[in-house]
Amino acid sequence: MKAKTVQLPDGTTVPAIGQGTWYMGERNSEFRSEVNALKQGLDAGMTLIDTAEMYAEGGAERVVGEAIAGRRDDVFLVSKVYPHNAGGAKAITACEQSLKRLQTDCIDLYLLHWRGSIPLHDTVAAMEKLQQAGKIRRWGVSNLDTQDMQSLWKVPGGMKCMTNQVLYHAAARGIEFDLLPWCEEHAVPVMAYCPLAQAGQLRHDVLTAPVMQQIAKARGVSSSQIALAWVVRSGNVIAIPKAVQPQHVKENAAALTLNLTEDEIAQIDKVFPAPRHKTPLDMV
Ligand code: NDP
Repeated sequence: MKAKTVQLPDGTTVPAIGQGTWYMGERNSEFRSEVNALKQGLDAGMTLIDTAEMYAEGGAERVVGEAIAGRRDDVFLVSKVYPHNAGGAKAITACEQSLKRLQTDCIDLYLLHWRGSIPLHDTVAAMEKLQQAGKIRRWGVSNLDTQDMQSLWKVPGGMKCMTNQVLYHAAARGIEFDLLPWCEEHAVPVMAYCPLAQAGQLRHDVLTAPVMQQIAKARGVSSSQIALAWVVRSGNVIAIPKAVQPQHVKENAAALTLNLTEDEIAQIDKVFPAPRHKTPLDMV
């Protein structure tokens, strides 16, 4: 079966499931296994890697740099700038430092990590400057709710935003009320973080939910794979699960070819219903 992909507004195709890196690069003793996990994921088709200058204060970018060494062209590299660095000369310095840690001269997609106090106008200007200098190919945002996206669309050049990376999984469907429809209407794919409903020590009950386990058992796959197939079901969402254990990496990559049926989606809807009203954007 064909691996699922998502198209960015500029026509670039990326895999619907990539690899996250939060909590990588924290400990030297884990460095090698984290590098190997990312390499395994690349080999298996999860060629989009998401990282950030924030993760382990550059440590995760160092892991990524090692994992992509010698195969940069096979990778779609996403990194994020701290809000307090997202403007003026600070943005240029932050990006250059990320590039050094990533051992590359260009980031494919550079995101504003969340909205801080620097005006969006200044962030867009900095992103354009980085683009003109060839240090980034595209830019996007993260953790922006509908109103923020509307504000961004009013900024000159703001409509060049390639994605909005937000929290999304079956137990956190708030974005389906208005943000996801807004993004679909404006052809901005959403990049779903915490697609396995986990973040550090935080655990939601998605993977252990009987509905996920029953569907998984009937399909002969894991409930994580059902959770991922659910997140990317529309074709407009990219999931970026983070995995270090080889079995996890293998499962996540295999979910690229897993399609849920209408009936399975309806079963999940019953347990994890779509939102009926606006809720504040979920974040970790
Ligand atoms: P995830 O939902 O991806 O969960 C990661 C956890 O799930 C890890 O403990 C991992 O274990 C485990 N796991 C991975 N695959 C499987 C599997 N097949 N079965 C069972 N368990 C599995 O949470 P994250 O918080 O890591 O989110 C994903 C990525 O999104 C981040 O890594 C980061 O890149 C990005 N992110 C962005 C944010 C933002 O503000 N923009 C905020 C949070 C995350 P193990 O590692 O041991 O294999």
